[in-house]
Amino acid sequence: MNFDTSLAFARALDAQDPLQSFRSRFLIPKHQGQEIVYLCGNSLGLQPKQAKDFLQQQLNQWENLAVEGWFEGDTPWMTYHKELQSLLAPIVGAKPEEVIPMNNLTVNLHLMMVSFYRPKGKRIKVLMEGGAFPSDQYAVESHLRFHGIDPDKAIIEIFPREGEETLRTEDIVKTIKEQGDELALILFGGINYYTGQLFDLNTITKAGHEVAAYVGFDLAHAAGNVVLNLHDNNVDFACWCSYKYMNSSPGGISGVFIHEKHFNDASLNRFAGWWGYQETTRFQMTKGFVPEKGAEGWQLSCSPVMMMALHKASLKLFEEAGGIAVLRAKSEKLTAYLENWINQVNDELGEQLFRIITPSDSASRGCQLSLIAKRNGKQIFDELVKRRIVGDWREPNVIRISPVPLYNSFEDIFRFGTELADSCRKLN
Ligand SMILES: *Cc1c(COP(=O)(O)O)cnc(C)c1O
Repeated sequence: MNFDTSLAFARALDAQDPLQSFRSRFLIPKHQGQEIVYLCGNSLGLQPKQAKDFLQQQLNQWENLAVEGWFEGDTPWMTYHKELQSLLAPIVGAKPEEVIPMNNLTVNLHLMMVSFYRPKGKRIKVLMEGGAFPSDQYAVESHLRFHGIDPDKAIIEIFPREGEETLRTEDIVKTIKEQGDELALILFGGINYYTGQLFDLNTITKAGHEVAAYVGFDLAHAAGNVVLNLHDNNVDFACWCSYKYMNSSPGGISGVFIHEKHFNDASLNRFAGWWGYQETTRFQMTKGFVPEKGAEGWQLSCSPVMMMALHKASLKLFEEAGGIAVLRAKSEKLTAYLENWINQVNDELGEQLFRIITPSDSASRGCQLSLIAKRNGKQIFDELVKRRIVGDWREPNVIRISPVPLYNSFEDIFRFGTELADSCRKLN
């Protein structure tokens, strides 16, 4: 991109943006009467305006039909999840029957490990990226202990090489080969929450299958952010949350992908509940669990319809925008523009005050850039907040900035860049 730091340039990019109108479909918070620049979709996506309507519809259904709402009304709750399956599938590159919204993310990580972590003999190890999101670390540790396996011996973490910030795919593959038949499961992030690195899901999955390990991904930072091909990549399972890039409310419902090749594997363990029971006979309430075919067969509890309504409000916007590939095309431009701005600020300051630890290759990152300031990182971050620029701060020293194609504009990035430069001048 030929880059120019003028406001006119940012506005020209917005004027050419076919997704520009989607910004007005979201509620943007104000501080002291003025809209903030929200660059924190990696933590909690903004509220779609239509979320209220979708929720209200279901509140009305509850009001008017009460228990009959499960079977009657415009959107009977018994089948409410089916439309969500169709809306979710293209976002993660799956068949509708391979995905199901249910529970919350960490709960789903445990449920997926019940099915896909099957330690046997010397094959007991789990491979993870070093510095995985804490909840994933706790889930895996505690799950191993539950099996009577010492996590210190059985969890293998891969860290970047000395002097590097992110992982090389070749090193991941090498470790997988080395661990070989001791590896039971590879559980990786799709995008690392801290560095913003997007991993090569296809290569990791292939390498894992070559040593006969199961391969699953936590897509909290990837789902709704980058193009995914879970089915074609032959990934065994994945889970994600919907409140980050999928704007579906704080603590909103999670999603799960299970590859169809596992649907008929009766040897897989699962922790069952009545909502995963075969649909046609579920209400006969008989003894002995018979799973519904597909990812639906992993459901436990009856649908949290209000959560699903909020999720649907946002997924409809993904569909209306033309799908994840269209969003990703804009996202790559927004992030490239952001990267240019950070480099520009360094140039203006006459030193490399900010180091971007996220890969510069757009195929190895999503929308997020993680910056480390040589000094005053927290002060700079706080100064930005005072100026209504909302990114996020992650201990020990990273500022994460995530422009989202559905609601961020190039002018947002312009404002971030100019305020960043100004804040640094003030604090230096
Ligand atoms: C956000 C995030 C979580 C959060 O899990 P919840 O169960 O939704 O609280 C877990 N793992 C990763 C990688 C995340 O980014």
